[in-house]
Amino acid sequence: MGKAKINAIRTVINGHEFDSQTEAEYYLELLKREDIAEIELQPQFVFMIPFQVKCSRCVKGRVPSPRTGNMVNCKTCKGTGKRNRQGWSYRADFRVHYKNGKVEVIDVKGFANESFRLVRKMFEYKQGIELLVVKKIKGQWKYV
Ligand SMILES: [Zn+2]
Repeated sequence: MGKAKINAIRTVINGHEFDSQTEAEYYLELLKREDIAEIELQPQFVFMIPFQVKCSRCVKGRVPSPRTGNMVNCKTCKGTGKRNRQGWSYRADFRVHYKNGKVEVIDVKGFANESFRLVRKMFEYKQGIELLVVKKIKGQWKYV
């Protein structure tokens, strides 16, 4: 799933390239903390692996030809009777491992949209932990 960012400026810190200035700023904020053992950048979470669905335009890959009426291979599924669907993965901005064992997964959001609400719900359903979303409001980092 692609991430649309408005006015995104690529920023490089310690050789890491960030999608936005805000993300880079939050990374610098995390680097200052002494209670953090490790910061992972862009951890990926697989919500769904690729799957197949039954083709609804044919019966077991066969359709009657509009010209002859003879049964021919379905063009949509190439006669397989199945269609491939892509998987669904999500890349968060950070996974932070604290020295006390606590783990946080964090997304730095400029704005939230409907598709992000679905991503957050699916992440929490699959991972069983809250997805933290941080935003800079009047110079302060807040969980939103
Ligand atoms: Zn078909």
